[in-house]
Amino acid sequence: MPSNEVFCVHCFESREQLPLSLASTHRGTCPWCGSRNQKLYSMVDLGDRFWDLAKLYPVAQSFEDEPNQLLASQIQDDWRLFSEKLFASDKVNDFVQVFRWAGRDPRDYQFSSDPYELVKPIDHEHSYRFHDSLASYLGGNTSDGFIDFEPPPLEWFLSCVVEAILEIPETQTMYRAQIWDKNIEQVHFSRERMKAPPCDKTRSGRSNRASQRTLYCSDDISTCITEVRPFKGSGIAVSQIILQRPARIIDFFDPRWITAPLLVEDIEWVVQTRKIIQHIEYLFSIPANHYDPEMYYRPTQALCDSLRSSGYDGIKYRSSLGSGANFAFFDPDIGLPEDPKYYWIEDISIKYSDIEPLDFEYPEHPYANTYRRAKP
Ligand SMILES: [Zn+2]
Repeated sequence: MPSNEVFCVHCFESREQLPLSLASTHRGTCPWCGSRNQKLYSMVDLGDRFWDLAKLYPVAQSFEDEPNQLLASQIQDDWRLFSEKLFASDKVNDFVQVFRWAGRDPRDYQFSSDPYELVKPIDHEHSYRFHDSLASYLGGNTSDGFIDFEPPPLEWFLSCVVEAILEIPETQTMYRAQIWDKNIEQVHFSRERMKAPPCDKTRSGRSNRASQRTLYCSDDISTCITEVRPFKGSGIAVSQIILQRPARIIDFFDPRWITAPLLVEDIEWVVQTRKIIQHIEYLFSIPANHYDPEMYYRPTQALCDSLRSSGYDGIKYRSSLGSGANFAFFDPDIGLPEDPKYYWIEDISIKYSDIEPLDFEYPEHPYANTYRRAKP
């Protein structure tokens, strides 16, 4: 082993960045960060992981091929992998290069051993493909094509979402609100009334088509109240929802981001799938109104169709109106309401901004327009 193919834990931001199973080879002074009397580890033992990480970054064609920066800086920006001490030194570029090639065939080494080679940010190509596939449904069916909207033929959508499976226990706290107008309703709402509405009163929503009963609830009281769009002076009935069994859902609210890339086995796959999940999270967060055309909901409805038919119980997503999380359960009776508590809406605050000029000549549906502009 060449004497510079070792490193110590102080080269990295923390020990958590390195696999627990990594064993030191001997003690000594670290050739990179200069720390004395340290356990030294062989770069070869972690070489494949580092190689895969470096491979995520396409090489820039030239200095003008922007954006670009040195590999070490790009990795540090994305993951904060290296210690301040190493990153601030002039050795970090060589460190990255030696690490990347540790244990590889020296003949390959001829091709790219330049530590000052510029790289570009990670290319989220799968995410673009996913986006284009959905957008072509939206943009290509401007007449009545939406009526026959099918889930996008993206087989790997389902293999992506396994990254975001969330098991929620029966003890999960959830609420569901309904506007309660004392003058019209006269009496308090029953538990039955606080359930998901019956088929004939079910309007289409983010996760369901019209007459497809779905239980929507939120993880805090103010979010569930915001979701029913109350006005000042409204009476609101809020029930706690008690899950009847544990649920297995997909979490688009809080995707677990990778913080230690060298602990991940297939870093490329994981990075690409997280990006798609992040994009779906965005789709759920676009506010929609009851008077919006049905087609506004089509992309997320299609994604939920795939999840429903694959046996998941529902999804968790960021509320576009409140600050908390929403749940949509495909089985409307998975959670049962308690007797509601009643509240008055004392005040509502409004924030506003100038509207962008609308292009009335734009031939596509406005949703497709919004969607394109949001390209990940
Ligand atoms: Zn070190």
